[in-house]
Amino acid sequence: MISDTMWFKKEKGIEVTTIKREVPNGLWVKCEECGEILYKKELAKNLWICEFCNYHFKISARKYIEILTDEFKELDIDIQTANPLQFEGYLDKIKTASEKTGQKEAILIGEGKIGDYKIALGVMDFRFVGGSMGSVVGELVTKAIEFALSNKIPLIIINASGGARMQEGILSLMQMAKTSAALSELADAHIPYISILTNPTTAGVMASYASLGDVVIAEPKALLGFAGPRVIQQTIKQELPEGFQKAEFCLEHGLIDAVVSRDKLKKTLIGIFDFFGVGKEEIKQEINN
Ligand SMILES: [Zn+2]
Repeated sequence: MISDTMWFKKEKGIEVTTIKREVPNGLWVKCEECGEILYKKELAKNLWICEFCNYHFKISARKYIEILTDEFKELDIDIQTANPLQFEGYLDKIKTASEKTGQKEAILIGEGKIGDYKIALGVMDFRFVGGSMGSVVGELVTKAIEFALSNKIPLIIINASGGARMQEGILSLMQMAKTSAALSELADAHIPYISILTNPTTAGVMASYASLGDVVIAEPKALLGFAGPRVIQQTIKQELPEGFQKAEFCLEHGLIDAVVSRDKLKKTLIGIFDFFGVGKEEIKQEINN
């Protein structure tokens, strides 16, 4: 419960009452957007969407999987980040991130089911070094694409990233070309790829696989773009318009196809799969027979 500490002080003979609000750890959180104090249990029930301003809190990769899929099996590909540039402290950073998230890297990939549809799924986790893309993330994204291709099932990637991982230098940047090349094979095979952009999806990830979806959907108010607004403003030395690089702004300017709330995402995806007609088990069997 919020504890209200009340005390009185005399100010020029007038008695002033002050109420100090303290947010006890663990039970309540403050909305990062509107500042409302939210009861954590209710917020979790509401899929971590603020009931006052529709702000979508960052959630873990496993939480997304729980919200979106009816079945999920992780593809366990045992590869680990090396430290090719001998970047000081890099492997310690990876170790800390692994312990914090219970994940080996900034993305989980696997096969799953949404409604009647089989899918290949990749979900990024911003808590893991800012969802940055190094060689391992690039390889796992490519594996997920290849899995979709060999099984002829739709691919979904849920993105959350600050961009390429600077500690791996050019090897990180190479992942942009590698994942884009793999996606072009998927497009040639007419297998749909749906990219979901969450807050934030920026830089090298946005400039490669995140923006290459046949359908690109963003969560409300997500920050999307290559360079951040501050960098752009400093470079062009002009005021940026209101809401610049937010999901709604990007939709208005044709960069993305839709803005969909987290609670409506599953239904929306099923609608898209119905339209494409790829991945439904019965359809596949008919073709095979
Ligand atoms: Zn809010």
